[in-house]
Amino acid sequence: MTDSKVRVRFAPSPTGPLHMGGVRTALYNYLFAKNQGGTFILRVEDTDQKRYVPGAEEYIQQALKWCGIEPQEGQGYGGDKGPYRQSERKDMYAQYAYQLIESGNAYYTFDSEEAVQALRAAAEAEKKTWQYDASTRMSLKNSLTLSKEETQELLDAGHPWTIRFKMPDDEAVVFNDLIRGSVSIQTAVLDDKVLLKQDGMPTYHLANIVDDHLMEISHVIRGEEWLPSAPLHVLLYRALGWEAPQFAHLPLILKPTGNGKLSKRDGDKGGFPIFPLEWKDPASGNVSSGYKESGYFPEAFINMLLMLGWNPGTEQELFSLDEAVSAFSLDRVVKSGARFNPDKAKWFNENYLRQYSSSELAELVKPLATEKGIDLSDEKLVSLCGMMAERSVFIQDLLAANYFFGRPTEYDAKTVKKKWKENTPTIMKELMTELEACEPFTEERVEVAFKAFLERKELGFGAALPGFRLLATGAAGGPSMFAIAAFLGKEETLARMNEGLTALAAQ
Ligand code: GLU
Repeated sequence: MTDSKVRVRFAPSPTGPLHMGGVRTALYNYLFAKNQGGTFILRVEDTDQKRYVPGAEEYIQQALKWCGIEPQEGQGYGGDKGPYRQSERKDMYAQYAYQLIESGNAYYTFDSEEAVQALRAAAEAEKKTWQYDASTRMSLKNSLTLSKEETQELLDAGHPWTIRFKMPDDEAVVFNDLIRGSVSIQTAVLDDKVLLKQDGMPTYHLANIVDDHLMEISHVIRGEEWLPSAPLHVLLYRALGWEAPQFAHLPLILKPTGNGKLSKRDGDKGGFPIFPLEWKDPASGNVSSGYKESGYFPEAFINMLLMLGWNPGTEQELFSLDEAVSAFSLDRVVKSGARFNPDKAKWFNENYLRQYSSSELAELVKPLATEKGIDLSDEKLVSLCGMMAERSVFIQDLLAANYFFGRPTEYDAKTVKKKWKENTPTIMKELMTELEACEPFTEERVEVAFKAFLERKELGFGAALPGFRLLATGAAGGPSMFAIAAFLGKEETLARMNEGLTALAAQ
């Protein structure tokens, strides 16, 4: 544990897999806590049992683990302020709702669901909205309109009830948001939110502020969608006589088009993952792709999320997690929505991939190669990685060129059409004689021999290189042809050239 009083929490509801917006919220909490020498806590907000999705909680923990931003305290991590799962804290909340009733800040409602629905529907028919608030509460069935005795009678008889917050009639709630500055909201537009239900289950609002208080949370860092709830939370803290934490509402992540909030549904349809890890929906069996399974490095994914709503004020874009911890501050989080760019996500991955040495990449790609039945010596795998790294975005791209693992079966039609001239076969045969004599058959030697050959024949690169590549690989482009030849070895290179000449002559 640390001396710092900074305590932040990530408080997801296990209603499905954590999407990238949720991971960003967790990341900013993590970075802020680490930067301040504070504690990062995981709290599971599962009061809405109807929306509970099996496996979601485990998924959240696995995702944070993969990202390398694990909490130090909380559900699954221990700590002395638990339990950290709200359903296990159920008995703690009611007393605060009663306290609010006592102090005149909350009241019982006895209206049936149908009665409230009917009022809402009637208002909607007139194109108006209806809510339980200062303007309507006095014409409804609640402990404000009933006498004390009538209220007690209903409670004793087990009549269905809820407890609602009594929103002050008309007051400006002003609070400071560390990202947005001073926020002011008139209570007249806010409704009387339900705090506690008859089964003793609190709603999000009550559970959230009780837990933030009891867990001594100093800063609430969460998505902008919770900004409208913040005034109610501020009023609840005041009504309970508690000091409110500081608030920081993070900007929305926008769709790649910039139009609207990035939603869970945008992912696979837009050709990019939206979830950190693959997710199989337990109800439908549908599988959504994950950044991990798509070949992203967790460091790249995290770095991309870091820059989606925060900037260091310099040109630097690549940050290791440690660098991000030192550089991060909430005052550099932007206010306006941050547009997600899937190409930029790839750019980050590509940059991380290139930070690895060829032998590190070889280690990383080995399991994949084995899976694909590719049988290469360690030395060859390292050399392959050296050639392919600069044209790869993902680890799997290192194995994307089939000609490294077998002879070409096709020859790129466009190159044949444009570069395979009448005299090319003759040039190729002469080149073969040149290569035959090249010893040792290393990348450097092949290059020297090839260039000497061009000079002697007074040929340009264009007259021999595309043909050489076409015969040896079947492809139009790729890594250095001299490196490929050295990788294949003299015998194989010459055999492929022979085979290619025959195949192309027959076309
Ligand atoms: N349970 C809320 C969510 O799912 C937490 C909001 C908050 O951080 O206060 O996002």
